[in-house]
Amino acid sequence: MASEYDQLITTIKAYHKDADLSLVEKAYKLAHDAHKGQRRMSGEPYVNHPMRTAIRLAEMELQLPIVIAGILHDVPEDTDVTLETIKKEFGEDVASIVEGVTKVGKVKYRGVSRYVENMRRFFIAMAADARSLIVKFADRIDNLSTLEALPPKKQYRIALESLEIFAPVASRLGMGEMKGTIEDLSFRYVYPNDYETVKQIVQQRYAAKSEYINTVMEIAEKELKRSGVSVDSMVGRLKHLYSLHRKLKKYDNNITKIYDLIAVRLIVPDIAQCYSALGILHNLWKPLKGRIKDYISQPKPNGYQSLHTTVFAMGGEIVEFQIRTPEMHEAAEYGLAAHWHYSESNKTSKLPERHKRWIDELARVHKEMVKGLKDIESIKLDFFQSRIFVITPKGDVIDLPEDATPVDFAYAIHTDIGNKCSGSRVNGELTRLDTPLKSGDVVEIITDKNRKGPSPDWLNFVKTSMAKTRIRTYAKKSISDWIKGVLPGSN
Ligand code: MN
Repeated sequence: MASEYDQLITTIKAYHKDADLSLVEKAYKLAHDAHKGQRRMSGEPYVNHPMRTAIRLAEMELQLPIVIAGILHDVPEDTDVTLETIKKEFGEDVASIVEGVTKVGKVKYRGVSRYVENMRRFFIAMAADARSLIVKFADRIDNLSTLEALPPKKQYRIALESLEIFAPVASRLGMGEMKGTIEDLSFRYVYPNDYETVKQIVQQRYAAKSEYINTVMEIAEKELKRSGVSVDSMVGRLKHLYSLHRKLKKYDNNITKIYDLIAVRLIVPDIAQCYSALGILHNLWKPLKGRIKDYISQPKPNGYQSLHTTVFAMGGEIVEFQIRTPEMHEAAEYGLAAHWHYSESNKTSKLPERHKRWIDELARVHKEMVKGLKDIESIKLDFFQSRIFVITPKGDVIDLPEDATPVDFAYAIHTDIGNKCSGSRVNGELTRLDTPLKSGDVVEIITDKNRKGPSPDWLNFVKTSMAKTRIRTYAKKSISDWIKGVLPGSN
């Protein structure tokens, strides 16, 4: 079997010893056969891409259904194997994640002015199953890593979309690691010159500073241990390139103003030891005024927790420390995804409680995002309540009230389409005109140009006032036309 498969198995075994690997093998075989003959633009077999996506998810130590969904994520969209088959072979859970990924992919990016529209597609995915979003992010990271094979115009579009939409959403979900990766991979395609500049600045600066940081860490570790703080880990972390770029722009490209180019990340067992460590470091080196931040007692809006401080270390050089517990670290790296972390100690027994935390989190993030949208376009807070988001075959999002029907959808697009509508396809299947639509449905209206006009019966089921008004207007008009017709002198 291919090396991607072996690598995936090794990665899963590392965190989930008794995983049912037969399901993973089955998923690999299905994806391998379904994508047979398909190639990526780079020329490699297509299946390598979903396999790398799954490996990334396994590296995040996520639960098996998410990893399996990663293997299968492009199957319903790009092959003859249907979602029903996936449901039958792998269960409801895997199928619903894959379905969510497919839905997100149905909406096309159409430029900056459609930002709000594009944000909505994430609501669609989140409403269905937030795990789909994580798979979608992993999918996007692999696509960004293999952008060289694409034509420049496409590279730019995908990278820009990632910077404008994927990264901010990952950030709002507290998924710091994925956000940083997405930004850094996109950066070079969107701003190639700035990318080169920043890369060079970092390389020079890092070469000059890395040895110094190592000495700082040695001294700090010794002092912490001597004072009874146990150090789980301490690493020097280089700032992500794109966030450095943004910061540099704020400070006129003056790198000496950037204090967290290399930050020392200190992980200690509990909150009490976080504060002890802060005190010990301040005793060792003088802190910089106004740079002590307690995100433990006051977490950031996305839930981020840590203590930050900047100190004058040996020779007066400035070094930033970030102090946190292992739980805070996991949350900072993986955000919402941390909830689906597989761990030996809490397997299925704790799932309902974990699930509840998820839903609370989602509600919070949802509110937060709506607030964000409000800033952009002063949309009312209740805007997203009781609304559904339905997608046109071209990939535009149409928002409608709950239980809206294909007729409401047709009138939302254009009066003529409503008036001439004779049938509809929902997710590719012929559907009655009075069927209630769901978020994420792709709806196509079949029109009949010979059709006289809307049926008054439609008034019994349409939900939007626009559809009602248009149907009534048409009915009135046709009655008056009819009267005109039979009574020629009536006007
Ligand atoms: Mn994909």
